[in-house]
Amino acid sequence: MRCEIVAVGTELLLGQIVDTNSSWIGEQLALAGIDCLRHTAVGDNRDRMLDAFRGALERSDALIVTGGLGPTQDDITRSVIAELMGAELVRDESLVARIEAVFGGRGRSMPANNLLQADVPVGARPIEQMPGTAPGLVCPIGAEPGVDGDDSPKVVYAVPGVPWEMRQMVEGTILPDLKRRAGISSVIRSRTLRTWGHSESGLAEDLADEIDRLDREGGVTIAFLASGMEGLKVRLTAKAATAEAAEALLADEEARVRAIAGEIVFGVDDQTMESVVLDLLVERGLTLATAESLTGGMIGTRLTEVPGASRAFVGSVVAYDGAVKRDLLGVPADVHVVSEEAVSAMAAGVCAHLGADVSVAVTGVAGPDPQDGIEPGTVWMATCVDGAVEAWRTRWPFDRTRIRQFTVITVLDALRRRLLARPVG
Ligand code: ATP
Ligand code: MG
Repeated sequence: MRCEIVAVGTELLLGQIVDTNSSWIGEQLALAGIDCLRHTAVGDNRDRMLDAFRGALERSDALIVTGGLGPTQDDITRSVIAELMGAELVRDESLVARIEAVFGGRGRSMPANNLLQADVPVGARPIEQMPGTAPGLVCPIGAEPGVDGDDSPKVVYAVPGVPWEMRQMVEGTILPDLKRRAGISSVIRSRTLRTWGHSESGLAEDLADEIDRLDREGGVTIAFLASGMEGLKVRLTAKAATAEAAEALLADEEARVRAIAGEIVFGVDDQTMESVVLDLLVERGLTLATAESLTGGMIGTRLTEVPGASRAFVGSVVAYDGAVKRDLLGVPADVHVVSEEAVSAMAAGVCAHLGADVSVAVTGVAGPDPQDGIEPGTVWMATCVDGAVEAWRTRWPFDRTRIRQFTVITVLDALRRRLLARPVG
């Protein structure tokens, strides 16, 4: 089964939007074991769309088209596919009802144009999932008369450009249909271990023997994905006859990787450094405050992005000016604001001031210019747990934005490690 993707939209060609749909679909196809031969982007133009669709169908068995299914003048995917199929567009009354229901549910009256979205080429069927108002389509190509379209030699799927609508249709209908057509019965599952504190090459070296073993024995593959301030992701992918068997392989492999990589693994899949730190705090019944200079509140922002952060997070003091560090947090007047003494006083001071059990504090030179002879990228960080402060210095070789971002996750990681070492209760 060979597949191609065509993303439709002049905005894609002009660089106004990035084609994340094709990359996401490409990833899903690979996970499902379906070969994807080509990604194409094409403007909202009938001739060029026809050309792209025909070319893809000459080379491949299946084509996924994203975009151009909306109700406006420039949304012509539906009618171009009808032309490709040599079929009429016929209004589907059950789709009319569903589209009207979506508008009714949103308490808005429906523009007449939206009914165009209920037009379906004869021989095609709407995709069951319809999270928005644009129906997706499954369009069999080349089926002999009288033969069920499900067994057609080729197939075109059309999904809307809106990413969350597109994803539900790909997951719910297109991948299962492609796997059925390809006769793939195995199940692929993946799990991402999130790490902080080790380089990609360093981790690859540590895991080299394990990767060799997997290459020989099969079952699971390991891939690395460097994600900047999100850390280095280690993705485990398992293929098995059933979902349970694939999950069991992943659990076994996760344990092996954790045994080798140790504490640098901070989370799995959707967990973030912030969510993990908050969970550890809640487990231990501790509250957290932050004292932030160069990060200007970013640590607090990241923490409060986690639902339920209030279970542990008390608040932040953004101590940007030296006077705030001294007057509010008790940094002694005679120490430099970028120093071990200053960051330690900030960590202890914010616990006292906000009545928190635990704190993190950061002060440094975000750049681009040096400050009092201190190089940009010089950052002092501290954690305070049970009244004991630990402080250390880092020198980041980055620009201002990355200096601030890396400081946020690094100081939270240090707190995570201290919390892990502290017994629960
Ligand atoms: P609509 O009903 O919203 O008109 P549509 O199927 O016509 O849906 P488009 O008009 O092509 O889709 O795109 C709608 C929006 O979806 C775009 O403005 C863009 O934000 C997003 N989008 C479209 N194509 C892509 C793509 N390939 N990758 C990521 N986002 C996309
Ligand atoms: Mg549109």
